[in-house]
Amino acid sequence: MSTPGDRTITASRQLGQAAEEIASSVIAARGGDPEARLRAIGATRLLAAVLRDEQHELAAVQAERLRALLEASDVIAWTGAVDTGVASLAYEISRLGRTRRSSRFPAQVASARVIVLDRDSTEADALAEQLRAQLVDPVIVDSVEGVLAEVERRQPDAILVGADPESPDQIVLLSRALGRLPVRVPVGVIAPDGLPEHRVAAATAGASLYLERPLTAETIGLALRRLVDTRRGAVPKVLVLDDEADWRTVAGKILHSEGFEVAELGDPRRVFEVLDDFRPDVLLVDATMDHLSGYDVCRMLRTSAQWQELPIVFVTNHTDVESKLAAFRAGADDFVSKSADAEELVARTRGRFERTRLLRDYGDRDFLTGLPRRGAFLAAFLSILNQARRRERPAALAVLDLDHFKEVNDVHGHLAGDRVLIAIGKVLSSSFRAEDVRGRWGGEEFVVAFPDSGAPAVLPALERVLEDVRSLELEGDGGAFQCTFSAGVASFPKDGAGPADLFAAADRRLYIAKRLGRARIVSEG
Ligand code: GH3
Ligand code: MG
Ligand code: MG
Repeated sequence: MSTPGDRTITASRQLGQAAEEIASSVIAARGGDPEARLRAIGATRLLAAVLRDEQHELAAVQAERLRALLEASDVIAWTGAVDTGVASLAYEISRLGRTRRSSRFPAQVASARVIVLDRDSTEADALAEQLRAQLVDPVIVDSVEGVLAEVERRQPDAILVGADPESPDQIVLLSRALGRLPVRVPVGVIAPDGLPEHRVAAATAGASLYLERPLTAETIGLALRRLVDTRRGAVPKVLVLDDEADWRTVAGKILHSEGFEVAELGDPRRVFEVLDDFRPDVLLVDATMDHLSGYDVCRMLRTSAQWQELPIVFVTNHTDVESKLAAFRAGADDFVSKSADAEELVARTRGRFERTRLLRDYGDRDFLTGLPRRGAFLAAFLSILNQARRRERPAALAVLDLDHFKEVNDVHGHLAGDRVLIAIGKVLSSSFRAEDVRGRWGGEEFVVAFPDSGAPAVLPALERVLEDVRSLELEGDGGAFQCTFSAGVASFPKDGAGPADLFAAADRRLYIAKRLGRARIVSEG
């Protein structure tokens, strides 16, 4: 019998070996071995998963950062960042025995953190009561400053604003103040029935959600889920693959009740067909099945071009380090036991989804503006369009091109030009709703995709951004100057069903805007 102490020592020795394997793969990759980089990436994936599972959060984060660095570049002309990454990882692992483990579950399992802004304390208390019935304990504040202080303190998932019947402007003020913060928090506005100016203010200010009183428990519940999902970046889809119907059904029900879109599959031989059909964000797969084991499925997916990156959570009856390593070697990202409780199942599934999203975001940003680049933007836009099609909802695309930007470079210098691009990146990041996706399409062209809204709904927000850009105080070699943009907007499904048609329509309108004298937004023609 081994004692828990022995087990820890064996486990950390194995972890140390894994870190050494990574270091030597990195060296081999630099020496010109083309397989070595892939080996290093695979090994960091494996190690991150084991570390996470053993609750060594800090070391796991180091491993994931390193993996992101290794994946970010195709050439092996790696910068010092990789060396630092390898060293930090080795360091974290060497101190594992001496550091305390972080708490069992990632924070996202805890109920949503919600701030309620309402000047009327009776209304605020009534809303808080309804939220508590949904297991959300809100923080109540009565001013925009109060919201800002709370956002800094608690990084909330959502802000609910009880609209002040006297001043619709309050929502606009709040959204401007929030826009200056580095984090995006979705805002929901609750307004008295039948006051259209509040709806307009909410839309202009970029609220993600608009509700009218009186509110039922059901609307509140849906609103919360929607806001929190918005913050977390969409409803995750999970495929549960297990030939044992009992566990599959129970897991499916649990995940469904937590807001996942779930598909179940009992026959592993049909996995590719169902993946293509359902396109999940996460796969839960049982280790032991007839015909094909979970290990086989994992290895198949990891060598397929299309599903290589799909996050996979392995499900088994064993939880020792040895079985975990076997699962991770086959390519799994995480591991959950069949006897785990509902909370753990949900935490691990959601954790996988969120982590890959974070890493993807991290790798795909434009250096100058911090916005997603073309590829990442297109991927996000495609998923917005798919969702719009499924839910029979509209969506919109805006293409923005700076006016006379060549002249800005010529008169004020290239550096001033770059500063303009940075400033505009900031304006775009802090405008619109949290779920709207902004990108730098290239050069001095920017793009924004809006789920759930057609062109008429997004025009006021774009007009406001044009005003914000115009009022930027810019300085260059030739003194102070102003900058504007022209934009074309296209709507799904009116202007087309796919990105090609929508981009064509938006571009056409952009050129109309240029011809009409620039500094304007065109959504027709
Ligand atoms: P228009 O109003 O018709 O769009 O005029 P324009 O001058 O903006 O037109 P054009 O598209 O011909 O010029 C774009 C210029 O943007 C050319 C290029 O020098 C500049 N540019 C593109 N990318 C960058 C960048 O990253 N930094 C800087 N400083 N300038 C850039
Ligand atoms: Mg251009
Ligand atoms: Mg231009």
